[in-house]
Amino acid sequence: MYKYLFFIFFATGFQSCYSQQEDNITGDEEKIINQSFTNTNFHDVGNYVSPKGKKVKNIILMIGDGMGTTQVQAGFTANKGQLNIQNCPVTGYAKTSASDNYITDSAAAGTAFACGVKTYNGAIGVDHEGTSVETILESAIRHNMKTGLVATCRITHATPASFIAHQVSRNMYEEIAEDFLKTPIDLFIGGGRENFDNRKDNKNLLNELSSNGYTVVTSTDSLEFVSSGKLAGLIHKGDQPRVSEGRGEMLGIATRKALELLDNENGFFLMIEGSQIDWGGHDNRTDYVVEEMLDFDKAIGQVLEFAAKDEQTLVIITADHETGGLAIINGSTESGTVEGAFSTRGHTSVMVPVYAFGPSSELFQGVYENNQIYHKMITAIGF
Ligand code: MG
Ligand code: ZN
Repeated sequence: MYKYLFFIFFATGFQSCYSQQEDNITGDEEKIINQSFTNTNFHDVGNYVSPKGKKVKNIILMIGDGMGTTQVQAGFTANKGQLNIQNCPVTGYAKTSASDNYITDSAAAGTAFACGVKTYNGAIGVDHEGTSVETILESAIRHNMKTGLVATCRITHATPASFIAHQVSRNMYEEIAEDFLKTPIDLFIGGGRENFDNRKDNKNLLNELSSNGYTVVTSTDSLEFVSSGKLAGLIHKGDQPRVSEGRGEMLGIATRKALELLDNENGFFLMIEGSQIDWGGHDNRTDYVVEEMLDFDKAIGQVLEFAAKDEQTLVIITADHETGGLAIINGSTESGTVEGAFSTRGHTSVMVPVYAFGPSSELFQGVYENNQIYHKMITAIGF
């Protein structure tokens, strides 16, 4: 019954979209579908050499939510033909489908990376039957490594949640927040503070975090003042704003802080998400996609600089899925102008790029299912 309703909804949606395109293209419609953006906020790109042959001590997994090859191309063009991501010597492709759907959401894809299993859309750290599966972050803690999560959305949102929580639905934000107290993660930075301190059960999880030894920080600026110990950075009440609407350098500051606090003799696992590349895709906005892509690439530069110096850090940069069916239909690497055209307001099924840097990066060559990224990471770290 549910499936039929969904089908009817979809068919109706398609039909109206189709007729609009055929005989009723308005100026507005044109603007929504094809959108040009000229970047004026260029960033420098480093030249980092990937170390080889050493043992992997640290893993940094960077997820550009909604970052297909065209989102990378949009960023590359807008930044005048250069991105930090291009310093990765190894590339591969990941197939993204969920266990129950040809097109994945961020929860199923996040769980594939975190747990190594293909699961259903909406699942957080559980398999296709709803059973909890240990995440790579939890395994890292078992192996005495430090761990961290950084995201430019709510920290309780699907992608980061998949690494620390076990819930049958991504919408269970308050239950997901509670799961942060069940795992001794060393650092997390993102939005979603209200899921901790403004809850239906009236619990104040910020107090519990404090008594568990975390320094709880509620703004980006105060991140700078934490120089040791465990850090809970809940820097926005709900979702975080986009770069140009108040988030600013949050991702760069959080990334620097994470690398500083997590680096230790036993190694660390860190997941960093550029969360809003996806939101730009859902909004069909080229400027939003480019801004978020470039913000993510700046963090990539910081991470590669760290990894090139450290020589024992494996960096993997990939996406959970593509969003928007983005095509780049015109552009200039001279002026940083990109013209994007979107084909959907949802996710698409296209394979996503995987970039790898550092020891064992060669494992990430080829074409494989997204849950293999988990198994490759486990092989590299030797759990
Ligand atoms: Mg996400
Ligand atoms: Zn999405």
